[in-house]
Amino acid sequence: MRYERVKGTRDVLPREALARRELEKLVHDKFSRAGFFPILPPTFEKYELYQHSTGEASDIVIKEMYRFADMGGRDLALRPEGTPSVMRAILENHLKIPIRLWYSMTMFRQDKPQKGRYREHTQIGAEIVGEAEPEADVELIKLGYDLFTEMGIEGMYLELNTIGCRECRPGYTEKLTRFLTEHQKELCEDCKLRTQRNPLRVFDCKVASCQEVLKSAPSQREHLCQGCKEHFDAVKKGLGRFSIPFGENERMVRGLDYYSRTVIEFKSTLLGAQDTLCGGGRYDYLAEELGGPPTPATGFAFGIERALLTSRGEDIFEFSGASIPLLVLPLGDKAQAYALELIFKLRQAGISVQAEFRSGGLSRKLKRADARNAERVLIIGEDEIAKARFILRDMHTGEQKEMTFEELLSLHELKGHSLLTNGED
Ligand SMILES: [Zn+2]
Ligand SMILES: [Zn+2]
Repeated sequence: MRYERVKGTRDVLPREALARRELEKLVHDKFSRAGFFPILPPTFEKYELYQHSTGEASDIVIKEMYRFADMGGRDLALRPEGTPSVMRAILENHLKIPIRLWYSMTMFRQDKPQKGRYREHTQIGAEIVGEAEPEADVELIKLGYDLFTEMGIEGMYLELNTIGCRECRPGYTEKLTRFLTEHQKELCEDCKLRTQRNPLRVFDCKVASCQEVLKSAPSQREHLCQGCKEHFDAVKKGLGRFSIPFGENERMVRGLDYYSRTVIEFKSTLLGAQDTLCGGGRYDYLAEELGGPPTPATGFAFGIERALLTSRGEDIFEFSGASIPLLVLPLGDKAQAYALELIFKLRQAGISVQAEFRSGGLSRKLKRADARNAERVLIIGEDEIAKARFILRDMHTGEQKEMTFEELLSLHELKGHSLLTNGED
């Protein structure tokens, strides 16, 4: 082999690629009925955009970002997440707000390659922009919940928290900083840094001794302003109305300043330690961060790879790509040309069909049809063309029937074939 793929990347082969298409179709159907439009911002942006949004509080994202200079010396980066680009696109193109958007895009990170983590991965996300009400949070959560249920994701549960707003968060952060400063000696090196830069992020620390310290950390819940309290109660009530099971997790925070109020994570018991399937929440301050007007927003995103792993995944979509519903076997030059026209006519009528054009007699072509896993073959020789009647042979039973083009079209079993068949049918 002369070329191999770059370390940390992977090939999405047909079976999985088809499962992804189906998933995107499902998302599009579901979300367009709720008023979401697809959006596709560019794969790379000015480094500054991510630095000011995603990176502001997260050293990890900064460290792992695919940053590069182009030939014009511009400072660019491959996108590490979707939301900043989407918000930038809304503002730059003056899209009318409120607006609802969804995307399926590749994201990049340049971390140490390890099993199951890739430098390029795909996320599906949904954003409701311009709606501040708790109903928007509930609607979005319900949409996500229904989507994952429909995908057959098992062991799913929702974790919920609120991280306050501009009014009530500073007071809490101050109190937390004081607490962390008192416990500096017990904290890991990273958390010592976080105490200065972004104290909320200490809750993300996986170090056991830090976790121990944090057990007695002050609770944000007691520092919520009236508005945040009411918002959180309304979200919980809404989830209850839809009987969506959830647990409150006070330690679940978002280290990014533009996040506010509602924080959500969908988890699956099947994922084990890395159990987050989908993360999201409100980001009421991002638009302003990017130089736009105050614009409340809420959204979520999930990795396609992980979602397929947790759902019945690729198993739902039984891959029959290797089997050909109908294969035309032309015999002789005249039949070859005839077959080429015929397959396009049949496809126009909704039939999935291919032709075996490689030269050879009937027995050779039948052998090839077998090797290509054809369900049925249509045999066309000069006689058949003259009579306008073809021979349809069932490759499993060997049964043969003569029929006209019209009779062929009316065969129910040839219609509606797709490469994917839903295993539940
Ligand atoms: Zn508040
Ligand atoms: Zn720590």
